[in-house]
Amino acid sequence: MAIAHNLGLPRIGLHRELKFAMEGYWQGKINQNELDKVGQAIRADNWARQIKAGHDFLSVGDFSWYDHVLDTSILLGVVPERFVQSRDEAIDINTYYRMARGRAPTGEDVFACEMTKLFNTNYHYIVPEFSEDQDFKICSNKLFAEIIEAKQLGKKIKPILLGPLSYLWLGKTKNANFDKLTLLGKLQKTYLQILTMLRQHHIEWVQIDEPILVLDLPPSWQLAFQTTYQQLQVSQLNILLTTYFGGLENNAELACQLQTAGLHIDVTHDSTPLATILQLIPEDKILSVGIIDGRNIWRADFRKILDILKPVHEQLGKRLWVGSSCSLLHCPVDLDHETKLDTEIKSWLAFSTQKLHEIALLTQALNNGESTIADVLAASDAVVQSRMQSRRIHNPTVKKRCHHLTADMTNRQHAYSDRLKAQQSLNLPLFPTTTIGSFPQTSEIRLQRQHYKVGKLGVHDYRQHMCTHIAHAIHKQLELGLDVLVHGEAERNDMVEYFGELLAGFAFTENGWVQSYGSRCVKPPIIFGDVSRLLPMTVEWITYAQSLTNKPVKGMLTGPITILCWSFVRDDQPRFETANQIALALRDEVDDLVKAGIRIIQIDEPAIREGLPLRQKYWHDYLQQAVYCFRLASSGVPDHIQIHTHMCYSEFNDIIEAIAELDADVITIETSRSDMELLNAFEKFNYPNDIGPGVYDIHSPRIPSIDEMTNLIEKAAQFIPIQRLWINPDCGLKTRAWPETELALQNMVKAAEILREKYSSSIV
Ligand code: GLN
Ligand code: ZN
Repeated sequence: MAIAHNLGLPRIGLHRELKFAMEGYWQGKINQNELDKVGQAIRADNWARQIKAGHDFLSVGDFSWYDHVLDTSILLGVVPERFVQSRDEAIDINTYYRMARGRAPTGEDVFACEMTKLFNTNYHYIVPEFSEDQDFKICSNKLFAEIIEAKQLGKKIKPILLGPLSYLWLGKTKNANFDKLTLLGKLQKTYLQILTMLRQHHIEWVQIDEPILVLDLPPSWQLAFQTTYQQLQVSQLNILLTTYFGGLENNAELACQLQTAGLHIDVTHDSTPLATILQLIPEDKILSVGIIDGRNIWRADFRKILDILKPVHEQLGKRLWVGSSCSLLHCPVDLDHETKLDTEIKSWLAFSTQKLHEIALLTQALNNGESTIADVLAASDAVVQSRMQSRRIHNPTVKKRCHHLTADMTNRQHAYSDRLKAQQSLNLPLFPTTTIGSFPQTSEIRLQRQHYKVGKLGVHDYRQHMCTHIAHAIHKQLELGLDVLVHGEAERNDMVEYFGELLAGFAFTENGWVQSYGSRCVKPPIIFGDVSRLLPMTVEWITYAQSLTNKPVKGMLTGPITILCWSFVRDDQPRFETANQIALALRDEVDDLVKAGIRIIQIDEPAIREGLPLRQKYWHDYLQQAVYCFRLASSGVPDHIQIHTHMCYSEFNDIIEAIAELDADVITIETSRSDMELLNAFEKFNYPNDIGPGVYDIHSPRIPSIDEMTNLIEKAAQFIPIQRLWINPDCGLKTRAWPETELALQNMVKAAEILREKYSSSIV
């Protein structure tokens, strides 16, 4: 009999209960006991869902009070000194939250641990910090307590641990640059202790996550896998080694040969054919096939999947486990709680709860024959048909346009150096100053938007309110003396959602929350069909802003790659086909902005770096397509129109050449948080166009001094000719309040004046 299981469930709760409980606890509104109860209820609900679906194992240890990587740090006693008074101090939930947030209900604020994206997902984890003499020791009872809790349900359970090598890989070395692998010996011992304890709890199977096996691993790490799993085998526990987010490729043989009782592979990324794994897998090993996509929300095509699984089942029999590709953490909880989506769209989707059922039903079909799920199969076929034919998905005009793209659509009329002349009409000074787009989103703005959304505020009044905010932003910028202005984005709740709501082919859920980090959840739009623009999306706001001043106001758009990366994307056509459709819709918007007299248009692509494939050999392809898309959106304009782009959230050194390929006239880019580390890239590469390396971090209310900013620009001037330097913050200002924004920008404008004074004679 094949086995049905999952790699973990979302932990935020059906109605984001965990978020609200966490926040309540931080604010002192609930006590630890009450917090505990919420966690307990979420775990109980998750187990009930697995039991109802009929899974053979209940996942345990996937629940987390903030982040499972941080849980692992606590389990292993990896707590930086700044969070504890003495080494023997018990680590409680307050220490835990302090590590995550730098703040706690009691005690002084300290630097929080760093947070970063988990591989290429939108989930952020708390980065472990290792010292050179790092010790490991079991410091948390959480996992074991949850095991005891789950056991009361009388089902088989499968605890989940983040594997030692992936854990090490995800961490950073603190204060010294040493080889993290030197810690492995000690770490292995602690893992072995944990496994031994699991055995004492009569655990049969443990899931150990080693997603780094889908990366390009250095040989020393590959070797470390062999020695580590040889060691851990001593525990005599059955280890299901799980790999996900990609194919094993050159690590396939290694993963198959490791001394573990089972291996899990993610087959939703088909870079390593299942057939290869079937050849490599030893006779006595379990193979868990992750075939239900844990990172997207489409209902499974049962027939297609059964065609893949049936021969595997024939070969492996009871050695086959059927599962989710990765943890279902990256999916919303339950589709049944969507009331806003219409039944047709809903019938195309599956969230985590539905996916649990899909896994169990597929397993049942393998074990008992397809006839036992005949109605499910028929329903699945109907969905496949409907998605193939639905007029809501397929728009012949869009498809036709996408198939008739010509090379000149992705090229500006002339090269940057020639465009410069045409753009002189903008009359910009040396070191032009600008901001990234958004101005403070006050509670008044948010409330008005919300009232408009629920119908409490009519269109007319709403527009008037937004215009008042735009006028306010323009007047402030004029007062401050900025050179290139923005309208302030008051009308935008979110840079992707705003456009998604206005484009055809997008759907929005009411409750489709996915954890982004800690208590923060996002509700990604669903791109279900061909994308097209129904009406102009930004022209009205931008032209109003431009009508208030002679200085140029930037048209402000979110780029195609960022919209793609931050949405659930349809799986019935290549991702970049969807991206091209979005690009064309934006191209039309760009066109309308130009027609309306807008002279500068910014197309933000903050997510371009995070969309990179995990393995380097696929980077080129991705970047080529991403560049193509951006140029498709931006190149339809005459020479005198200045195209800007903006990037943040990542370091861009390793893709700087692709960024240059975008051929934006100006890029504003985050750099101040890393003290202009970006400039290292310019030692080897001569960035050809204008660039505004961010001179201050907008993530904190701190007001940067004039000196600080002139220094940063002077640093940049060593690599970039001053005629091509812009002065701007790192990112948009929507999370800031006006008082600090004004003071910071005042200083920024003064810094620009000082630099102009100093350098103007040197460039005549
Ligand atoms: N234009 C957007 C803003 O200023 C850019 C946001 C971003 O880069 N994340 O808010
Ligand atoms: Zn930004």
